[in-house]
Amino acid sequence: MPVRLFNTLTRQVEEFVPLDPAGKKVGLYCCGPTVYDFAHIGNIRTFVFADLTRRWLEFSGFSVQHVMNITDVEDKIIRKVRETGQSLGEFTGKYEAEFFSDLTTVNCLRPHQTPRATEHIPEIVALIARLLERGIAYKAADGSIYFSIEKYRGCGCKYGQLVNLNFDGMRVGERVASDEYEKESVADFALWKSRVPDDGDVFWPSPWGEGRPGWHIECSAMSMKALGESFDLHLGGEDLAFPHHEDEIAQSEGATGKPFVKHWMHGYHLLVEGKKMSKSLGNYFTLRDLLAKGFSGREVRFLLLSAHYREQFNFTLEGLAGAKTALARLDECVAKLKEIADSAAPIASPVSGFLVSNFKNALEEDLNVSKAWAAVFDWIRANNQALTPGGAHQLSPGEAAGLLAAWTEVDRVLGIGEPAQLEAPAELLALLEERQAARKAKDFKRSDAIRDELKAKGWIIEDTSKGPRLKKA
Ligand SMILES: [Zn+2]
Repeated sequence: MPVRLFNTLTRQVEEFVPLDPAGKKVGLYCCGPTVYDFAHIGNIRTFVFADLTRRWLEFSGFSVQHVMNITDVEDKIIRKVRETGQSLGEFTGKYEAEFFSDLTTVNCLRPHQTPRATEHIPEIVALIARLLERGIAYKAADGSIYFSIEKYRGCGCKYGQLVNLNFDGMRVGERVASDEYEKESVADFALWKSRVPDDGDVFWPSPWGEGRPGWHIECSAMSMKALGESFDLHLGGEDLAFPHHEDEIAQSEGATGKPFVKHWMHGYHLLVEGKKMSKSLGNYFTLRDLLAKGFSGREVRFLLLSAHYREQFNFTLEGLAGAKTALARLDECVAKLKEIADSAAPIASPVSGFLVSNFKNALEEDLNVSKAWAAVFDWIRANNQALTPGGAHQLSPGEAAGLLAAWTEVDRVLGIGEPAQLEAPAELLALLEERQAARKAKDFKRSDAIRDELKAKGWIIEDTSKGPRLKKA
């Protein structure tokens, strides 16, 4: 089954063909979080998009190596470390742990490798040394090392592969020290920043003196270490295309002389309540803000997956309420099918076949998720007709099992799962296990007390063929 995806390099949807001659292995790199704050909903959209892409590639038969870096040293982090008086590790460790917990909440598969920048200083230094050796990088008066756009272009390399840049206003040798800069600034950027007093304890030795890496070089070093000098697929939010990704290409191709990445994908911006998200407008949401409002990670995932990744999506609280209703319809249908199916062997039917084939056709078109969800809701409608008491066609246990199997198959990509498994907090699941142990020991007083405690917290125990599980009361 061909996988067709938009490639920012060629500006068109094209068949995705990995570099592996056997056409099987795929190296996927997605720029990870800068761990200086909680992830906001726009960040979460990027990671859900990366997760969908990975799951779709795996579903399509590829063997994916998913790498996501942790940026644990850059300008903003250093500023915060200075303000809080914590050590770099203390400060970033907290946000890194929170970030992984957020990924779990929205049911993203854990990347296979999550390298930290601070653990790759030797690789970063070696990469900068290669650029210096090739004459593409140079040392400035303060000891910092910069990437020379002019020298890079002089080697016949193209700067401006992902975005169209206007070089007319560029002044040769103009430099930008900051990790983040604007589109107009086609300027030499910092690879290694010489130590200054404001850096505090955050510095490493290098052949050019003490200092720290620039943000862009971190991703080049970590991605190439994990996936090789040329790899298949690089993802990120559209705001990273320039300068971050353009600089990643320049540093990597400048050092190796080989093409860096074959296929680039960028997820579009998110609006919240119709406006660009900002703390001052009050429309800035972290995932935990939404959980505090009573929404679940599953509902957030569903809403984020309802729009195409190259669509500017308007995220609203009303939309989240709609996600709750839509998922309730899905859950009700799945629950009824389970009741009928019991443990029967699945029998394929036209409805189960349509779900899987329509779903695949939709995702084949550059991950058209809205169309994929339409296939799921058509399936729910058809099932509900068959489930209506006294309807013309009543489902047999085997047919119901076949319909469920079709849902399970497409859910490998959607990752929506079942409500109870996703939503019950860990401490309640531990209580459920304790109740099982109490029952086994015939301590019914204790097991009843746990049941009542769970009920008081809004959860009931449902016995299923796979054992008991928690369901929202
Ligand atoms: Zn990056």
